[in-house]
This record gives sequence, structure tokens and C-alpha cells, in this order.
Amino acid sequence: MSANINLPRILRVGAGASHELAATLGQLGVSRPLLVTDPFMQQCGYADRVLTALDAAKIPCGLFADCVPDPTTDSVTRGLAALAQGQYDCLVALGGGSSIDTAKAVAVMAERDGPMRDYKVPTQVDSGLPVIAIPTTAGTGSEATRAAVITDSETSEKMLCMGLGFMPVAALVDFELTLSMPYRLTADTGIDSLCHALEAYVSRKANPFTDGVALSAMATIYRNIRTACAQPDNRAAREAMMLAATQGGIAFSNASVTLIHGMSRPIGGLFHVPHGLSNAMLLPEVTAWSVAAEPVRYAEAARAMGLAEEGDAEGVALAKLTEGLRQLNADLSVPTPQEYGIAPDQWHGSLALMAEQALASGSPANNPRVPTAEDIVELYQRVWTGQGSDNFG
Ligand code: NAD
Repeated sequence: MSANINLPRILRVGAGASHELAATLGQLGVSRPLLVTDPFMQQCGYADRVLTALDAAKIPCGLFADCVPDPTTDSVTRGLAALAQGQYDCLVALGGGSSIDTAKAVAVMAERDGPMRDYKVPTQVDSGLPVIAIPTTAGTGSEATRAAVITDSETSEKMLCMGLGFMPVAALVDFELTLSMPYRLTADTGIDSLCHALEAYVSRKANPFTDGVALSAMATIYRNIRTACAQPDNRAAREAMMLAATQGGIAFSNASVTLIHGMSRPIGGLFHVPHGLSNAMLLPEVTAWSVAAEPVRYAEAARAMGLAEEGDAEGVALAKLTEGLRQLNADLSVPTPQEYGIAPDQWHGSLALMAEQALASGSPANNPRVPTAEDIVELYQRVWTGQGSDNFG
């Protein structure tokens, strides 16, 4: 069976790539951009840098700087109002996954009537205004995915929306923009990328194209994440993490995420845990629960990350993988949901709804071991206490 691979038309990768925006717009034949970003990008001067460069190139650019973390349908509505103020022919997204996903949703909804929930999976949305993405985290990989994650303001459901309409036409992947990321953001977004790569590699939709990209990404992330966190100015580690984040996005966008992301979205939607952090809370235990269903691939992932030796027997490699991921969480001070401060009654009272939302996203069906709602509830309970239990049986 053939694999269907979708990528941005233009990928510029490396130091200074973000300075190529004017040239990229020219190549794409667009000239009236709306810059979509968040308040911090404005405060730290990144937005002004883009606006100044476009002004110098005589490209007038509008500004919507009200993106919120984990974008909501309400924030997308505000972005659509800003878009309606001008004759824009494209959107430039500057920021982390939240700004990029906001721009994608605005681009798609500009051509459609709401509500946005009509366009969540399994609906595929294949058209929208062109989006040029400039990521500043390493990261969601959203700059290279045909997905956007938008929280329904009415129901708090973190909706997965997919289709070619959500794929940026161009991505300017400039690791220099990530040098300002603080420790927690570096750790959380880095583990998000690691999850993308690992989930894509073990996904039931994995294919030879995504396998190579995913293995390369997980090897790079595992070897560089601690350095990027401990030494924020380490350019080599930052560059490696940024490239791997984009690779992780390419891998999962063309092979799907699985159970970790499926279970992570409800935690973000209901308890406002940052996306990478909720993935991190789940990564070791969901992996421990899943390995027995795809031991060859999980063992290969352990070897790629340098957690297991070539000569290790499968069972040994799987045990080292789970232990290595638990150690990574400990090293990067990843809290359990309980330690994060979620109220026990709210967590336990939401488990059935969380399991329902996780299954509805479709992602768990791509996991090597496909869970029932009861399995998911049990896994949420296990993650709450932080009590690991290996299940290689
Ligand atoms: P984010 O965009 O929510 O940003 C978090 C905070 O970090 C913001 O305050 C932002 O201003 C700040 N920030 C961003 N870059 C910075 C930098 N270089 N220096 C200092 N601060 C910086 O964080 P994120 O993790 O990149 O994005 C998370 C969102 O992306 C979630 O909503 C998640 O669901 C979504 N997501 C989307 C995809 C996709 O394919 N569309 C994939 C994974 C995650």
C-alpha cells in the first residue's frame, strides 16, 4: 500500500531562515500578509523584527497579536475579525504551536461558516488561505503538519482538526528564535517533539518515509534535550532540537500520533496543563503499557535513542526504554498531575469524559495496543499517582 505524504511547499531551515520572509512571500506570489502572533512575541521584539523587515521590503502587513496558549474557538473568532479588517491574501504565523494553530484555523475558517467543531476529525478540510509559519518553540512541529488543535470554548474539548487546509505553504525554521526559551518551555516542547517521533514510529499508520524521519528525530532529541535545557545558549543543541522538532511534525503528520496525544488533549482542555507537559506526564506509563504489542519497533526506538545496546535482547531493550523515559521525566522535573496541582476530585470526576474525548479524537486507534475506555481510565489513574508498572506480558 502506498503512503500519502504531505509537506510544506517551502522549508527554509537553519540560522537566519526567518529573515527570508519577504523573499518567501515573493516566491509564493502573495503580498498582503496578516501577522498572527501572541503578546509575548510582541513584548520580546520578535514581532517588530518581522514587521520592520517587511516594511523595508515595502510589504504592508497587518497585525493580530492576541493569540492565547492552547487556542480557543473564541480566540479564532477574534483572529477572523482582524482578518476581515483588511484585504489580506495570506497569514504569517510567528510563535509556538498556539500562534501557528490560530493562524491555520483563521486561514481555514475565513472560507467557511462556523462553528469550528463542524471541522474537527474525522472531517478533512483541504483548502484555506496560505499560511507561512515561523516557529519559535522546538516544538510542536505545527509548521510542517496538516493539523491544528483548537479548544471548543463551549465544551472545553481540545479538538483535532486535519486536512491540507491546515498545512502551511512555507515554514521558516530558525533555531535562533528558540535561544530565548526558558527551561520549562524547552523541556516541555522538547518532550512533545519526542512523543511525536516515537508515536509516529510505532503508529499503525507508520510507513517507510516517516520511519527514517522519526528515528532520526528521536535520536537527536534524546541526545540534546538535557543540554538545551541546562545550557540555553548552546547553539548546537538548540539547532539540533529545532531540526528534530520539524522532523517530528513531518513524521506524525504523515503517520499519526497515537495514545499519548489522544490522552493528552483532554488534560490540556480540562485542566490547562501545557501541551508538552501533559504529554510528558503520560509518556513513560503509556509506553510501558503499549510496548508488548509492538516490541520490535519499541526496541528499535530504544536503540535509536541510545537507551539500549545493539546486542540487548528485546525484553531488556524494552525495560531500558521505559526506565530511560522515567529517568528523563525525573531529570527534567516533570510533575505528576497531582504534583501539578490538579484537584483530586476534579481529576477523578473527569476520567470518563477524558476517556471519551481521547477515543473520539481517533488517535488511540493508531496505538500498537488499542485501548478500551476502561483501559484509558486505568492509565489516567496510574499516571495520577506516578506509580509505574511494567506490562510486557
Ligand atoms: P505555545 O505556542 O502555547 O507557547 C507557550 C508560551 O511560550 C507562550 O507564552 C509563548 O509566547 C512562549 N514562547 C514561544 N516561543 C518562545 C521563545 N522562543 N522564547 C520565550 N517564550 C516563547 O507553546 P507550544 O508548546 O509551542 O504550542 C502548544 C500548542 O500547540 C498546543 O495548543 C498544542 O495542542 C498545539 N500543537 C499543535 C500541533 C499541530 O500539529 N498543529 C502539534 C502539537 C501541538
